[in-house]
Amino acid sequence: MQKYRLLAPGPVPLPKRVLKALAEPALHHRTPLFNHHLEFCFSELQKVFQTSQPVLIQTATGSGVMESAVVNTLSPEDEVLCIVGGKFGERWVQIAQSYGIKVHRFDVSWGEALELDQLEAKLKEQTQVKAVLFQACETSTGTLFPVQAISQLVDQICPEALVIVDAITAMGCFHMPMEEWNLDVVVAGSQKAFMLPTGLGFIGVSEKALLASRESQCPKFYWDWSHELKNYPQATRFSSANSLIRALSEVLHLFSEVGMKTVYERCQNLAETSRWAASELGLEVFSSSPSPSVTAIQLPHEVEGEKLRLWLEEERNVTVMGGQDQLKNRILRVGHMGAITNEDMKVFFQNLGEGLKKPRSSDFEDELSKRLQASEEFFL
Ligand SMILES: *Cc1c(COP(=O)(O)O)cnc(C)c1O
Repeated sequence: MQKYRLLAPGPVPLPKRVLKALAEPALHHRTPLFNHHLEFCFSELQKVFQTSQPVLIQTATGSGVMESAVVNTLSPEDEVLCIVGGKFGERWVQIAQSYGIKVHRFDVSWGEALELDQLEAKLKEQTQVKAVLFQACETSTGTLFPVQAISQLVDQICPEALVIVDAITAMGCFHMPMEEWNLDVVVAGSQKAFMLPTGLGFIGVSEKALLASRESQCPKFYWDWSHELKNYPQATRFSSANSLIRALSEVLHLFSEVGMKTVYERCQNLAETSRWAASELGLEVFSSSPSPSVTAIQLPHEVEGEKLRLWLEEERNVTVMGGQDQLKNRILRVGHMGAITNEDMKVFFQNLGEGLKKPRSSDFEDELSKRLQASEEFFL
């Protein structure tokens, strides 16, 4: 069998030094040695989020910290606006409704760019909302939303409202300065750009969000930020996921050694190269506002996407994701986060061409290599 290649938009392949850290003996989470790792992580996370306010760590998947964001800042009966352009936008709606929060929807056709003037009109109708919730990148469609512009509109039209961003496939992928852009709650997860196994959630909390959290009436126990903040930055309230935190400190060391610019450039390069390679294979990119972190490749109508995806996985040992719901069978989603090597990308596109029985020009592979080499495999 050929080497396994993981090109999903999370979970992602892990750098060697992360694998090594994960193999270290367990540390107790109330020891000076562990404390040292945790405090380093807290202070480096602020640099990645570009905020001087706390970035909390809770042991959970990404959806867990989305829920944490909602239950800590809002109350039942509050009204919020959710921007819904795919599966993860729907998740904000489901979480908020689970707590009796009244949701107004701003629907964006899946894969289409958000129209700011339409959003402006919607906000003007709903100036009473307590928060606006959206994705920086909607992973289910590979679509980037204009985070800064959305935040500016909310500040102009609903200055009281919190800006709550699911940045799970954005933070660590591209420039998104939390403080400068006035984002109130920003959530991220370990198994995407942070190159770790699933299990850690990160939550950047602005001063305004902290104030809101003191008023919030949603029921909560595990998620309650007030206890996390009491211990911050010396400890987490419950047992820290000690192996994951040590691996996180390895990643944050790596980020600080190479610089975030290099990290962002890698993501951008893989995205641009994927768009180019797709078009060489006669395919189109699904989204009209494609993200640097994941590319959704649209498949020709005669191709059954799920069959192709399974063939890649079972016959070629390459994992990419398909589409969900209305996009089932219609797209393949290839991720650009984590320790994806040039070789992984080449193997994927070679096999995709074969699977689609698309003749490739003789220069295709040379040009593909050349483009990939333009960014650094900084995680090797
Ligand atoms: C991966 C992802 C999540 C979280 O998914 P989990 O499976 O709960 O970790 C949330 N939002 C977006 C945009 C994602 O890409």
